[in-house]
Amino acid sequence: MTAQQFDRAEVRALEGCTYCPRLCHFVCPAAHGEGAETATGWGMMTLANLIRRGDLTATTDERDALHRCTGCMRCTAVCVHSTPVADVLSHARGLLATSLGVPEAVDAATSELRPVEQPAAAGVVLFFGCGERLDSERRDAVTAFVSRAIGRPVAAIGGLGDDGRAACCGGTARRSAAANTDELESAFARAVESATIVLSTCPRAGAALPSELRHKVRPLLVALGDHADEIATFAAPSPAASPVTLHGGCDSRRPVDLAEAERRFLGALGLHAVDAFAAAGEQECCAAALPYSAVAPAGAARAAAAVVAGASLDARPLVTSSTRCAEHMRAASGDASIRSILELVLDRWPPIR
Ligand code: SF4
Ligand code: SF4
Repeated sequence: MTAQQFDRAEVRALEGCTYCPRLCHFVCPAAHGEGAETATGWGMMTLANLIRRGDLTATTDERDALHRCTGCMRCTAVCVHSTPVADVLSHARGLLATSLGVPEAVDAATSELRPVEQPAAAGVVLFFGCGERLDSERRDAVTAFVSRAIGRPVAAIGGLGDDGRAACCGGTARRSAAANTDELESAFARAVESATIVLSTCPRAGAALPSELRHKVRPLLVALGDHADEIATFAAPSPAASPVTLHGGCDSRRPVDLAEAERRFLGALGLHAVDAFAAAGEQECCAAALPYSAVAPAGAARAAAAVVAGASLDARPLVTSSTRCAEHMRAASGDASIRSILELVLDRWPPIR
């Protein structure tokens, strides 16, 4: 990893963090999980900068330390300079991977990601990303729900394959410096190209798409929020609107803020969503995402347990955005009642109970 491999904006970001009094450290899930300042955005950016400058020779220890990031972008959200820490660290991990490879646990986790299959025809395509590990039966049920909600036929792609591997648009793989990143990204780009519009369970899907394709990808929950009135007519609530605590999470709140759409959609299901505790207006990250959860599963579990403890103060059922986050939070906290929004659809919509 040499100085020449970073562009001017990245160098500015690395230098800026190195000399910053770590003003973002309180929002970092990895820092909470590890209980260490070295795992903050500041700590990892400083480490990457020392390697870039040639002041430190990276070994697998430093490489592993740079994988303690979920890509949640919470540091960027509170940084007065909006420093793109997650992107710069992702680039640094990619550079180190060429000489040191990636941590074994990250390699194992990302080799479980598969390229998405191609849609059979143009039209509305529902993409189940790697955060929604639904089997084909539950995928079919959600697809039927979405089709009814938007009043158009919908074809599903992605999700868990017969081999148990989850489809990925390439975003998780790129963040993890995985060897299969290019393959996953190009399969997703081909799928988007042949669809009319892609509704994605992951709002970050398509970040790496060429600009002429990016506009075709819409977050599923935004589309469902737009159709809340129609949904309320067939997914009628049980007797009274009941309150839930909504944990937006990192993957699902950035780069687009879904809170309003999620609230409208949950309202159509008869649920009154109240936001979970949020530091500085930013929802906590449960640390389910790669690469952090692969290199430091115990720390990722501690971070999730802390989020659940904070979000449960009001004793309302806890709802989070992705199934991956819900699974991670259930395992870390022992609270089996935590649900993702799509799991709630599967729980509550009569035709698919
Ligand atoms: S992201 Fe911003 S607040 Fe955090 S260390 Fe870097 S410059 Fe400082
Ligand atoms: S992107 Fe999230 S996990 Fe990564 S350094 Fe920033 S706050 Fe921490």
